[in-house]
Amino acid sequence: MANLKDEMVSFLRQDPVVSLINFELRGNPIRSDMYLAIADRIASGVIKLQMKTVKGRGGSYLHNQITLPVGFKLNNYANKSIVIHECTHAIIDYHGIGRHDFAEEEACAYTAAGVYWMYYNQFTLNFKYQTKIAASITIDGVYRVDNQDASSLMTEIRQSDSYKGYSEYDSRQNW
Ligand SMILES: [Zn+2]
Repeated sequence: MANLKDEMVSFLRQDPVVSLINFELRGNPIRSDMYLAIADRIASGVIKLQMKTVKGRGGSYLHNQITLPVGFKLNNYANKSIVIHECTHAIIDYHGIGRHDFAEEEACAYTAAGVYWMYYNQFTLNFKYQTKIAASITIDGVYRVDNQDASSLMTEIRQSDSYKGYSEYDSRQNW
């Protein structure tokens, strides 16, 4: 059986839903080809994978390091959507936009994961506006996410206990 790193690379390169993720949220383009570029960086070891359990977190990403819980398996939609979420953080890191509102980046990550879920007919997501936005992309074919909806999702994220004390993320890499 392939190790998790190889499985993640194959998942990003081959999953038919990854190839359909395509949207822009508050000027941040998130496209399927970017997940392929992230897969290449995981494959080459530029983006490293660390196994470490962090309480209250499904995973995390910080500057070329993806952290997933010990024992994590890529064998269900929930865990696949976590990989999509963390790889979306990697995409924004590679956009190199510098310091920015953390909630905007999380909104992109939750939207991408939401699009992933929705292709498998899961309509109850983490946040109310995550569901609304993912539906608009998946069902109505919207590319540019409505700014009001994006702001509402960001408000939900800011008010979530999981993100208490968060303010900015820093995107540093270049494609
Ligand atoms: Zn996140």
